[in-house]
Amino acid sequence: MGSDTQAGQGRKIPLERTIYVGSFVHCKTLQELDICDEGAIGVDETGTIAFVERGVKDVAKVQERHGWGVCKVVRIGSTSFFFPGFIDTHIHASQYPNAGIFGKSTLLDWLNTYTFPLESSLSDLDKATRIYSRAVSRTLSHGTTTAAYYATIHVPATNLLADICLAKGQRAFVGRVCMNSDLSPDFYRDESVEAAVAASRACIDYITSIDPKYELVSPILTPRFAPSCTADCLAALGALQKETGVPAQTHIAENKSEIELVAKLFPERLNYTDVYDAAGLLTSKMILAHAVHLSDSEIATIRARDAKIAHCPASNTALTSGCARVRRLLDEGIAVGLGTDVSGGFSASVLEMVRQAIWVSRHVAMTEGDDTKLSAEEALWLGTRGGARVVGLEDRIGGFEVGKEWDAQLISMGDVEEDGEGLHAHHGPVDMFGWEGWEDRVHKWVYGGDDRNTIAVWVRGRLVHSTSGFRQ
Ligand SMILES: [Zn+2]
Repeated sequence: MGSDTQAGQGRKIPLERTIYVGSFVHCKTLQELDICDEGAIGVDETGTIAFVERGVKDVAKVQERHGWGVCKVVRIGSTSFFFPGFIDTHIHASQYPNAGIFGKSTLLDWLNTYTFPLESSLSDLDKATRIYSRAVSRTLSHGTTTAAYYATIHVPATNLLADICLAKGQRAFVGRVCMNSDLSPDFYRDESVEAAVAASRACIDYITSIDPKYELVSPILTPRFAPSCTADCLAALGALQKETGVPAQTHIAENKSEIELVAKLFPERLNYTDVYDAAGLLTSKMILAHAVHLSDSEIATIRARDAKIAHCPASNTALTSGCARVRRLLDEGIAVGLGTDVSGGFSASVLEMVRQAIWVSRHVAMTEGDDTKLSAEEALWLGTRGGARVVGLEDRIGGFEVGKEWDAQLISMGDVEEDGEGLHAHHGPVDMFGWEGWEDRVHKWVYGGDDRNTIAVWVRGRLVHSTSGFRQ
């Protein structure tokens, strides 16, 4: 665990009132972007948006109007734009070293072959420090300002992940994984229901001690998935959720063999969703990852409980789990966000998930019709506003409105010179010729961009990542 002096040290440096001047883009509705090319967004000392102005020709007048004569002004280039930080609603920080390593496995053998051996090794705090530091730095570099993390069963390493998120300034939900059933390996499981609950409580207490108001980091109850937990363990965690009010996260209906296994393990329950519902875990604070193979009645139950869904398209493809019906879930009014699901998913980039969600929706469309296709705008909505709803922070993050917190990324793309020469590494992979309209610019970023285009990232008004392309 990090010491008190180290944890959250960055937060102790006071923020300056700052006006961010230039273009900004965010999601207005599921289908529509709000693009403002002469914007000025004022962010106060608490990292909260104090004003949003459009059609700004003279920043001095904006300063005068708001009485912000003394403040910092950050101006960006004409083809750059501010975009809300991405929200990764499902990622296993502990599996980060395995990103890209999955072979031809499917869920249940993938867990035993790749995942449990790595996760169990994080009892070593030096190793955990190395993995978690890099996972948080890497996700920040991809513009992920909020992440819902699974750690491991280890209390010290889970607390360490919370320390690292706080120190690096990433907004995070940090979950200590619970798994007590016989399906968990001997070397990596909770010894009893009581032990699982006590360890979960220890992590909740620790995270509450380092961030009492959950301004940045919050605990999250994390039963791994139904087959990893006994019914009494799930019920005990349901009771703990009710007692503490902290959110919860787990997996559901990812793969058909898993669903058969759940039916065998919980014969008294109607279906997979009912296993969590019976335990009292299916609430508006529950994030369900995957939701690939849900029946109509399960969808109805999830909607009735207002539980949320993390769509993990890269992982669902990599482990051949299936194609989640995102359009159906959205039409039902269920909150859906995007999850990288590292390391079932091979990339820690939510921008990559935006693309993957679009591709998966097209594969669904090949058999179910064009209505199921997601547009780039819709996928961006899932990665920002949708994710904010999934983690219960829609009043604080996901877009640029007065009162929301400045969780933002600065996107920059390379201008092609007149002679077409000058291929510079720092330009990133997207070439802008200068005649593209705003919609085309955003689409070129969505389909061709990567972390080289994310040159600065802020969380709650604090600069948490920048590259050499960003000059203040
Ligand atoms: Zn997962």
